Amino acid sequence: MREISSLTLVLSDKCNFSCPYCPQQKGKNTLKIEDIRDFLDLLRPRLDRKAWLGFYGGEPLLSWPLVKKTVAYAEKNFKDKFRFSLTTNGSLLEREHVLFFRKHRFDLLLSYDGPAQKNRDANSVTAVEGALDQLRRLYPEGYAINSVFTPKTVPQLAASMEELLRQGHSRLQYALDACAPWKKADLAILEKQLERFTTVCARQRQKAGKAPLENPNDTDGRGIFACTAGRDRLALLPDRTVWGCYLFYDLLGHSRQNPDYEKYCFGELEGFMAGFKKGFPAVTANYAELRQDYFFSEKKELCSLCDDLERCAVCPVVAALATGTLAVIPDWTCQLKKIARRVQDKPAARMINGD
Ligand code: SF4
Ligand code: SF4
Repeated sequence: MREISSLTLVLSDKCNFSCPYCPQQKGKNTLKIEDIRDFLDLLRPRLDRKAWLGFYGGEPLLSWPLVKKTVAYAEKNFKDKFRFSLTTNGSLLEREHVLFFRKHRFDLLLSYDGPAQKNRDANSVTAVEGALDQLRRLYPEGYAINSVFTPKTVPQLAASMEELLRQGHSRLQYALDACAPWKKADLAILEKQLERFTTVCARQRQKAGKAPLENPNDTDGRGIFACTAGRDRLALLPDRTVWGCYLFYDLLGHSRQNPDYEKYCFGELEGFMAGFKKGFPAVTANYAELRQDYFFSEKKELCSLCDDLERCAVCPVVAALATGTLAVIPDWTCQLKKIARRVQDKPAARMINGD
């Protein structure tokens, strides 16, 4: 088994937003510091030399004392073992948090949807924009912004990202609503928007020496894609179950009767700890089957027969959130992947990649 390079702590399933595209079920579960200590201590011998320890929610700033206790424990007992990350909606972010993140060298991901932010929580716009301003001033190297676009908001993609650049935010990502069906007309708009923003990124790279877009380029020439959940990463969820990646919990965590629950859940913390040597490899072997060449589309077209196989990477859980079945990819995702590749092959994208 590989060394573990990433642990995610989903501190609670509470959130102060109800974003329309969020696949998480909200609840009232919260991890305790004792659970986190047990989880970290058990995995100590398997950790990579420098592993990521990520804080996630719900909204993790609702569990702020737990973030501080975990960081104190990790720094005292694991020395320089961890790099910290945290994903937040930004609405509760204050100066105190930013200074703490800067001191402990966190890598932050703040989700902010530009003009579409009002669809998430109309009252949040001023607070999140204030948080972004604080980050830009106090910890400019420590954060990236992720914006989610839906078929309805995709016509705003390029303008929204350009506005963030204009405001001085230099690390941007975008994601697409995985659950909504993307129609042909939506995809055509997406292609135009990506082309426009790629040209802006190329210009920015010439100007600043670095392109602002941080979305990974599918397989980046590393051969056939495989999900690494359960092999180089694990997640502890607020109901104290352990999964290969927190996304599996969104898909399966609330349906224990689904046969895939047993297949991909490592069990509750006590069971995970007791059966670590025996149970762990069996579940890990199930995760190892989540490879792009074993996937197929809703039309039953096999990825293994696709000309684009070695350039394509689809998260099996994100696909399953739309199709309901792991390893089955919605047809619009194939179209989306083709669009992304066409855009990547344009001269502006080549400039960004330094070709
Ligand atoms: S484009 Fe579609 S069929 Fe081809 S490898 Fe990607 S997901 Fe599979
Ligand atoms: S491919 Fe998806 S499920 Fe697998 S590790 Fe990545 S984000 Fe998690």
